[in-house]
Amino acid sequence: MKQSVKLIAGNWKMNGLGASLGEVEALRTALDVDAPACRVALCPPSTLVERMVRAAAGSRIEIGGQDCRAEANGAFTGDVSAAMLMDAGATLVIVGHSERRQGYGESDLLVSAKAEAALSAGMAPIVCIGETLDQREAGLAVEVVRSQVMASLPLVLAGRDFAVAYEPVWAIGTGLTPTLEQIEEVHRAVRAAMIERLGLGIAATPILYGGSGKPDNATEILAVPEVGGALVGGASLKAADFLGIIRGA
Ligand code: PEP
Repeated sequence: MKQSVKLIAGNWKMNGLGASLGEVEALRTALDVDAPACRVALCPPSTLVERMVRAAAGSRIEIGGQDCRAEANGAFTGDVSAAMLMDAGATLVIVGHSERRQGYGESDLLVSAKAEAALSAGMAPIVCIGETLDQREAGLAVEVVRSQVMASLPLVLAGRDFAVAYEPVWAIGTGLTPTLEQIEEVHRAVRAAMIERLGLGIAATPILYGGSGKPDNATEILAVPEVGGALVGGASLKAADFLGIIRGA
């Protein structure tokens, strides 16, 4: 992820059965005919990773996981390790999504350990950060994301392949999006914090925007300075919608 080409990653969350692989076929066919200028990734539920890797084989679509356990293996019923995702063919993994930070009480420290586990397994982590509505309304957005960068990005990321996703919690799945000025302000702050934490070597590491991204708003958001791509939830489930965003990059 070190090149400055944009990365558009879809997060299917807990959606998708075998029948949904038709969307991957449709996406790959469209991308084969008209190659995009950006990188494209899909992060399905763990049950679909291996099948999606097969469906996307030989195409431009990269496949990732949505979360991983920090430990490599052990008595952790229901969890999936980074090595298991890698074994299934994933090349990247989302860590620290707000639905995990909030729903499972995941701390910055844990997110950092997961990012490190992803790297150790040979995958590129996409580390999510973002403020809640209360924090935004209290004028704390920049302070919150700065502190998340400092505590969620392990030092071993320096010089490695990874991305950060700025996802305001209040924009996820709500149809609300920050103004372009707010997006730029936070992305600049995230970049400054990343450089402070990991050095100038991460100057080209992509910072994705996430939160109610759709074909209608993709072009203007992706044109904001420091926006290096998008992490897309709902609009990544249908190939036609996701393509609309990819074409905006
Ligand atoms: C997400 O959950 O990462 C996300 C960006 O969701 P949505 O696009 O549906 O708001």
